[in-house]
Amino acid sequence: VSPRPAERGDAEVAGSERILADDQEHVFRGWARQVGASSLAVVGAEGCWFWDHDGNRYLDFASQQVNMNLGHQHPRLVAAIREQAGRLCMVAPQFAVDVRGELARMIAERAPGDLDKVFFTNGGAEAVEHAVRMARLHTGRHKVLSCYRSYHGATAGALTLTGDPRRWPNEPGIPGVVHFFGPYPYRSPFHATDERQECERALAHLVEVVQLEGPGTVAAVLVETVVGTNGVLLPPDGYLAGLREICDQHGILLVCDEVMAGFGRVGEWFAVDAWGVTPDLIAFAKGVNSGYVPLGGVVVSRRVAGTFADRAYPGGLTYSGHPLACAAGVASIEVFEEDGVLDHVRRMGSEVVAPSLRAMADRHPSVGDVRGRGLMWALELVRDRGTREPLVPFNASGPAAEPMARVAAACRAEGVWPFVHMNRLHVVPPLVIREAELRRGLAAVDVALDVADSYYSGTP
Ligand code: PMP
Repeated sequence: VSPRPAERGDAEVAGSERILADDQEHVFRGWARQVGASSLAVVGAEGCWFWDHDGNRYLDFASQQVNMNLGHQHPRLVAAIREQAGRLCMVAPQFAVDVRGELARMIAERAPGDLDKVFFTNGGAEAVEHAVRMARLHTGRHKVLSCYRSYHGATAGALTLTGDPRRWPNEPGIPGVVHFFGPYPYRSPFHATDERQECERALAHLVEVVQLEGPGTVAAVLVETVVGTNGVLLPPDGYLAGLREICDQHGILLVCDEVMAGFGRVGEWFAVDAWGVTPDLIAFAKGVNSGYVPLGGVVVSRRVAGTFADRAYPGGLTYSGHPLACAAGVASIEVFEEDGVLDHVRRMGSEVVAPSLRAMADRHPSVGDVRGRGLMWALELVRDRGTREPLVPFNASGPAAEPMARVAAACRAEGVWPFVHMNRLHVVPPLVIREAELRRGLAAVDVALDVADSYYSGTP
């Protein structure tokens, strides 16, 4: 059981000022300014909750970074890591070791179609980098098409492939990346009026991009199966199948980034299962072992793996398939099976989250759109339902972003830690969340939406 402040002696736990001072002075934080950014001295966590040094408890409605699918300090995962650490901590990737092979087999058995080999990485960005490298080497082409509304990670290549503004400071990035518009029915780039039209026009747009780029130069189309931080954008029915068809027609590989959407987040092992499509490569991370030890990877089709049958794959990582990470992965898949986690996710999504968020949309004019599946949901907040003017401007920071900051603060004041990005409030709790906890978190969202409503200026 995780240490609560009250259960540990003073000697063991530094004061919160000390924790915060060390962090402020010496930890170089990503995606943040280095001076003056506020933080929280987290000292413990269990299940869907974490708490700070002063005893403030939060329901983790963000699953940290949408990665702790089995929640905090799951005893099975902790025990598996402990057992593995006692037995064998590290074996380099050129050797075979039981847990690494076992996890690769378990993933392959659950992956669609002929995806049956796994290249392990330490996280999502590396998975995307290697998926793209495999696609380029397999096809002998160099271009990769990815969506404007996407996030693929913060290494040089993954950040270039990222379509959202996080890419800008990294530009010009790597050569060969071309962005296109994916479907987004609520703010259709194609002026479509329904999902079917959005799907058709999005596919026609991609066909045109492929033609203009030159089909013989395109190695891969890379998409997030369900777009994550850019607003939980679900592919309309037929979109992924359409992508598969376009790719097949031109010898292009279809690469799905399931770093966030995979491993149960939408109620499936792999999100593509919900739409019955088999890509050539799937990038995964986060939920594979809930991040107890860093782990990610690429599930590779037999066909792509065959390219490297008698030719070395030019890439590798010291910690590829680290035994401690793999032990947590094996235990995690066992827990998913034994506890019926996928069924639970589907039920919580359709019976609790969907009706509850839709009812909130009826009560709160600031809710412009409700989207999601399983336990991956977003509310898109607006100042006016008619014009769909977002609650904060695109990519706002500082005072312009304050309305969303106040919405998030209102959640936290209710003891619920939300995931907020641009004008969206995401509902992405651990997949093991109990119904009562889920309802408690949703009640906090309801309260926070009063703050969003106070900025509403359209007709109700
Ligand atoms: N792809 C997607 C869809 C993600 O959500 C993320 C992380 N938020 C990444 C890639 C990058 O993963 P990591 O931070 O582990 O490198």
